[in-house]
Amino acid sequence: MSTGPNEQAFQNVRKLISDVCQQMNIAEMCRVRLMECERELTVHFPVKMDDGEVKVFSGFRVVHSDSRGPAKGGIRYHPDVTLDEVRALAALMSLKTAVVNVPYGGAKGAVVCNPKTLSQGELERLTRRYAAEIAILMGPESDIPAPDVGTNPQIMAWIMDTYSTGRGYSVPAVVTGKPLEIGGSKGRFEATGRGCTVSALLATKHLGVNPREATVVVQGCGNVGATAAELLAGEGCRVIAISDSKGGVYNPKGLDLEGLLAKKKEIGSVIGFRNAETVTNAELLELKCDILVVAALEHALVKANAPSVKARIIVEGANGPTTPDANKILCDKGIFIAPDILANAGGVIVSYLEWVQGLQSFFWDEAEVNNYLRKLMTNAFAEVLHISQHDKVDMRTAAYMSALRKLAAAMTIRGVFP
Ligand code: NAD
Repeated sequence: MSTGPNEQAFQNVRKLISDVCQQMNIAEMCRVRLMECERELTVHFPVKMDDGEVKVFSGFRVVHSDSRGPAKGGIRYHPDVTLDEVRALAALMSLKTAVVNVPYGGAKGAVVCNPKTLSQGELERLTRRYAAEIAILMGPESDIPAPDVGTNPQIMAWIMDTYSTGRGYSVPAVVTGKPLEIGGSKGRFEATGRGCTVSALLATKHLGVNPREATVVVQGCGNVGATAAELLAGEGCRVIAISDSKGGVYNPKGLDLEGLLAKKKEIGSVIGFRNAETVTNAELLELKCDILVVAALEHALVKANAPSVKARIIVEGANGPTTPDANKILCDKGIFIAPDILANAGGVIVSYLEWVQGLQSFFWDEAEVNNYLRKLMTNAFAEVLHISQHDKVDMRTAAYMSALRKLAAAMTIRGVFP
């Protein structure tokens, strides 16, 4: 797992985009455009801290592509985030929105900060100033942020309020992942974990694995990982291990998830949970299981640990958790991978549904949202699996092919201005 500056991330995504474009004979004018991000904004802005000191923070907002619709992507607050990483995540968003067929492009934003060390007041002032700085890009028809690592619905509410104040009227559709009280969608909070669960179940069906006999290991006990663990347990799977940044817990007979998640809420970690042995983050990834959900940060699976992975199915809840080297090793071992741009697209799907509901000022019940999510995920999974089997390529390449075909079609039809 990379914790330091990651200057390789965008290069990895660019190489895959370029290779797949060439493999598919996609027009050169599309390939070269997709290799770059369309817009990149870096901001350095002051924030008054509680002790009266003024600190300068750096932030980014990058739009990779808006060929298929308004740019869409989360905002990350993390001390190690870099512009390069934001570029990579923005490009993954363009691919993700295309693979699941929602009419959006791709973007990503970030502020270099550790939200855990900021007070609520500092977090609000930082967020509002960052929102004001990137407002020139934002808009319900141009670029629509959402939560990512280190941000949450409250932060989206502050962004929406700051943007609306600048306009002089309320613009709820400028962000998604908002609290329900100001136009959020039911089911949005669990959407990414739910999408991972749908992907995992479709993968078990494809491989003839009975979910009721399947064991599950989850890396990351946040929004995505904890939700996927709970929903998979609800489907009858046995969740045997889960981790957070401090380490993991393991019980081959199955974890008491309800108690574990309550404990995590109380003390901020899964470590020390009763009836389970402690494992390191490295050991957790190498546990024998049917389904491994990687739902922490980038580069969890790398060349060094890929040969030791014993899962049958890997579901990429996180963005970019597998390096290209590791992907090859895992595919050669016959492990079925539901790749990030497919497996974790549940969040952007329900973000899209939130945006649609907001624009219509007509809100749906949770069952309707979840049904739509399941339908879009299932269609996308079937399309990617079909490409993988028909063209004899791994699932990641197939997902890129599905996405790049749609992106190239949109770019070709729109043409080049002027
Ligand atoms: P989160 O902050 O809620 O949770 C992240 C979890 O990972 C935390 O429990 C943290 O302790 C843990 N973690 C960090 N480093 C770890 C390590 N080395 N080993 C094990 N665990 C570690 O974030 P999230 O919203 O759940 O996002 C997780 C991943 O999913 C990110 O890559 C994010 O980009 C991706 N993602 C999130 C969404 C969404 O809707 N939240 C959508 C698509 C993709």
